[in-house]
Amino acid sequence: MEDRLKVSTTLRTCPLWDLPFPKESFISGKPVPENSPYRYLTQDDARQIILAKPPHCHTCGHPFWGDAAEDQQCPHCVELKPVFAEGRTGALMKGPARDMIIDLKYHNGFHVIPELVAMAAQCPGYLDFLDGGILVPVPLHWFRFAGRGYNQSQKLALALAERANGCRVKSILRRTRYTSTQTKLQRKHRVKNMEGAFQVKRNHGLSPHDRIILIDDVFTTGSTLNSCAKALLQKGFQHIDVATLCHG
Ligand SMILES: [Zn+2]
Repeated sequence: MEDRLKVSTTLRTCPLWDLPFPKESFISGKPVPENSPYRYLTQDDARQIILAKPPHCHTCGHPFWGDAAEDQQCPHCVELKPVFAEGRTGALMKGPARDMIIDLKYHNGFHVIPELVAMAAQCPGYLDFLDGGILVPVPLHWFRFAGRGYNQSQKLALALAERANGCRVKSILRRTRYTSTQTKLQRKHRVKNMEGAFQVKRNHGLSPHDRIILIDDVFTTGSTLNSCAKALLQKGFQHIDVATLCHG
């Protein structure tokens, strides 16, 4: 499955691939109808995506099943004590949403970027939340960037800025040290792992009153986003929000 996905991903990164052949779902291989909101997902695939529609956690965007207060936090965020103000996410990191993130992160699957943005845009209020914000991608350490060749969060930020009103993308953060892969660490170690891992670049040209929206592909424990937000707070930024494409 993984090898097949790699091959199809390579082919679909070429725009010419779309011209002479019908679009197919990268999950099932079935043709995608022309009127679908997605380019590479059928309606059956899309139904497997668990969108993060309201009501949701005020700071990470995880959906609540039932009624919730407007500023209610999930138990995880209560424990995290985020220094950022508000957050949104697109969908739970399951099924096709998870497949797309893995494709983007590890297989150069740039064709899923518009799919992930289209997915998030189906959550009421997601794009409105971004309006007028300065989108700041979570940076990779230079060593990881050299290995991957791109920062998926920056690519997502650029695609989101095209869909939302009045947004700009500014890469004003730098990762100052190489950190272990977060997915292999327990929660308390993830927080420790990310402490002081980010700095704000000099001469960024922004005002402390600008609304910053940190952009990352996935909200996992929130420790990476919280560490970025702390670095921004230390430099005087007063309004920091976050937006991710998936939550898992
Ligand atoms: Zn939360």
